Amino acid sequence: MTSESGSISRTPYVNTSPDVADEFKYTTCYMCACRCGIKVYLQDGSIRYIQGNRDHPVNKGVLCAKGSAGIMTQNSPAKLTKPLKRVGPRGSGEFEEIEWEEAMETASGWLSRIRATDPKKLAFFTGRDQSQALTGWWASQFGTPNYSAHGGFCSVNMAAAGLYSIGGSFWEFGEPDWEHTKYLMMFGVAEDHDSNPIKIGLGKLKTRGAKFVSVNPIRTGYSSIADQWIPIRPGTDGLFIMSLIHQLLKSDKVDIEYLVRYTNAHWLVINDPGAEDDGLFARDTDGNPLCWDGKTKALANARALEVAPAVVGDYELSDGRKAQPSFNLVAQRYLDNQYAPENVAKRTGLDKGIIEHTAAELAHYAFVEEIELEVEWTDWAGRKHDKMKGRPVAFHAMRGISAHSNGFHTCRALHLLQMLLGSIDCPGGFGHKPPFPKPIPPGLKPAGKSGQVEANTPLPGPPLGFPISPEDLLIDADGKPQRIDKAFSWEFPLSIHGLMHLVITNAWKGDPYPIDTLMLFMANMSWNSSMNTSGMIEMLTDKNESTGEYKIPRIIYADAFYSETVAYADLVLPDTTYLERYDCISLLDRPICEADACQDAIRQPVIELDRDVRPFQSVLLDLGARLGLNAMVNDDGEPKYPGGYPDYIVNHERAPGIGSLAGWRGKDGDKYGRGEPNPNQLKKYIENKAFWSYRLPPEQRYYKMANKDYLDWATEMGFVGNSDQIVMEIYSEALQKFRLAARGHGNIQPPEEHRTRIDNYFDPIPVWYEPFEEAMVDTSKYPFHALTQRPMHMYHSWGGQNAWLRQVTGSNKLYMNTKIGAKMGLENDDWVWVTSHHGRIRVQLGLMDGVNENTVWTWNAIGKQKGAWNLDEDASESKKGFLLNHVISELLPKREGGYRYANADPVTGQAAWFDLRVQIEKVGPGEAEESYPQFEAAKRPAGLEPVPSVLRYGKSLRVKRES
Ligand code: SF4
Repeated sequence: MTSESGSISRTPYVNTSPDVADEFKYTTCYMCACRCGIKVYLQDGSIRYIQGNRDHPVNKGVLCAKGSAGIMTQNSPAKLTKPLKRVGPRGSGEFEEIEWEEAMETASGWLSRIRATDPKKLAFFTGRDQSQALTGWWASQFGTPNYSAHGGFCSVNMAAAGLYSIGGSFWEFGEPDWEHTKYLMMFGVAEDHDSNPIKIGLGKLKTRGAKFVSVNPIRTGYSSIADQWIPIRPGTDGLFIMSLIHQLLKSDKVDIEYLVRYTNAHWLVINDPGAEDDGLFARDTDGNPLCWDGKTKALANARALEVAPAVVGDYELSDGRKAQPSFNLVAQRYLDNQYAPENVAKRTGLDKGIIEHTAAELAHYAFVEEIELEVEWTDWAGRKHDKMKGRPVAFHAMRGISAHSNGFHTCRALHLLQMLLGSIDCPGGFGHKPPFPKPIPPGLKPAGKSGQVEANTPLPGPPLGFPISPEDLLIDADGKPQRIDKAFSWEFPLSIHGLMHLVITNAWKGDPYPIDTLMLFMANMSWNSSMNTSGMIEMLTDKNESTGEYKIPRIIYADAFYSETVAYADLVLPDTTYLERYDCISLLDRPICEADACQDAIRQPVIELDRDVRPFQSVLLDLGARLGLNAMVNDDGEPKYPGGYPDYIVNHERAPGIGSLAGWRGKDGDKYGRGEPNPNQLKKYIENKAFWSYRLPPEQRYYKMANKDYLDWATEMGFVGNSDQIVMEIYSEALQKFRLAARGHGNIQPPEEHRTRIDNYFDPIPVWYEPFEEAMVDTSKYPFHALTQRPMHMYHSWGGQNAWLRQVTGSNKLYMNTKIGAKMGLENDDWVWVTSHHGRIRVQLGLMDGVNENTVWTWNAIGKQKGAWNLDEDASESKKGFLLNHVISELLPKREGGYRYANADPVTGQAAWFDLRVQIEKVGPGEAEESYPQFEAAKRPAGLEPVPSVLRYGKSLRVKRES
């Protein structure tokens, strides 16, 4: 060091590795949904810093910016401190602090009245919570079908398309074979989903020199390190994929052997237009699907081992009718010239050469670069194989292709492409993560039909499930919806994750019926977790003129922070942070497995609670006991889980021997998967750094849908009911059953007004159509697609309130392609109006090169409502930050005299966030340079600390250590 006088003073000893903490604890991160393992260093009981857990299978020590900034979420001034009862009008923020006993008595009083009369008048919806195995079960025990988590407005198209075609999907369901793939195509993935595992995986690909192609209208995050970026026009991914299929079929580059072995490609489909079984599979008298056996030249059981099935051609059934193999129908559809690259190029915004080149590369890597592993394995029929053959082409996709009104079929098309290439669960391809693959679709049916919702009675099953025919819908005798969100109705028959985005609108309208209480957990529904945000605020505060009562009479909200939605609640149940409670990341929920490992994890409290708040999961169990829900009380009426959530995690059994955690089961902890509860189970997890992992032996690693050893093990684990082969579906008979109902067959048929829609969109083979909003608005008036995505360093509104992460991004801009900006006379930082068919917002513009020319986009959930999150009223998040949500409608554009369906996929109900079309205009001279709309700041509830002008952390710890 040089002193002012120029002389050099030397420190005799510099300790470059001082002790930074006096203890550490392992737990699981919750700064986003990836569930990385973390090691939290503590000093005097306070967090010193957070490190990635090097032994954890999800992140292997990698920690992202969000994960390390967990310290500032823990030290957020927005943490709620005590239960609150609303005393002013909704939205005013006027609350009175109450004791927990009063809060619990109030909630159980409201809920017990509902349960004793009509349980469906409780609508219970949760956000990105990781305890859905508990919350869904609780709703079922309460007896309401009106339950779901955030899936309907996130990526249910992806999940449903996968579960109805390959028995799994991406992210929590499956992953690329990072060790062996030579070509990875990623569709519509921002930087957030599966964050650290993808970063680690991409690092491996880059090191090995494998090619990474990103299909995305925006080049940020993963796309910015792609070897090739394909800047597709939003909503046309399905068309692009179908054109790739066209090219592969045309050049005969599909894996017929794989298709016959693992899919229903050879199953014969009845071709008898007008008949009640047209489009269903031809079956023998025992119900076995039929194929045409090329050896015997006769019809045969398609699942028999000795047949040599035909995959193309016309065949005659024993009753004289015609039938074709389903592959024949697939080939017929996509060989049509409408899918030729030159005919999809304009629509997708891609050069025809790019489509041709991509198809050629897929064929090259799949078939020329085929790989073989010297691993013996046994198939479902007991046949031994001495090698595992692989097609080293993998795909990964997420919300970018899913959040469109044509997303279900686009996602199915992607799975079809994978099946045609023979790259599912093989070396180098996409790999299912246990407990997937599941039967197609899984066997659970949604409960909540008429007659199944009774006073003081649990539902006979879970509120969410997998319909396979109209008989499974939750509708009444007139075909009217039974759920408040209209899930599993003729409007959205396969809405397997519910439709959270419709709850407030429908509850406000009383359509299909009024509700009494809306209970929300971790769901910022008055702000960034809703379409039509300004409209939601009006609905939450709207009163019935004749009674003066709110149209949604009661709102219970559980959150750890003073998020925007708190101000609209009548009763606030303050939650803990993820560092203050026990949790389980369960195989019954969304697990953290890998393609070659089965694993789960826990959270444990790493710091002591310093406020009068409780973990919501324990609150739910307490509420359940107060309500006398059978599964939550003992025979003597006493709570079954008096120790709250940790007690439930260890002792609850969903089926005999199967509970929340799979590791260290059995009373001595010597079993896994199945076994009686182990009182020391949490201790064992803590000793093992908060996770459990079982690695599959090599012979079970691939072909899980047809691998005898894997299927036997999966049966023992309770993942599947038996070890029968799981036959993947290039053709969906379940979809055809709905279509037949729309064509007038069967006892349960859609009401007249829904028939055409069901007929159009329940196509058993993936189909592309123009996204609904785009088809309904004047696209010359609204020329731009408008998208949102999450930044790598923030997750929903939680990240945007974090003092460290706010310094990275404190407000958002709307990004536009530089060339287009220049054409329109717009410059960086100009303020513009963004107008859709639904509304108008004022935002600041940014220009960039890496975005499709027809697209504008912004970061999601940076914009905050003034005063929320205990931020300063002048915070940049509310002055300059904005939400695109204000201009996205939850309903489709108005039509003359027409019913307004939800702005959603017609099959699954997935919110079509990315169908938005907008117009951009520069603001007039002298207009305020502030985002619009702005809202009155709500009062800060008692108990919240004053807004700090500067929020620092760690100084006190440093002083202590040095002193
Ligand atoms: S990706 Fe980052 S924020 Fe998400 S769980 Fe992992 S460390 Fe935490």
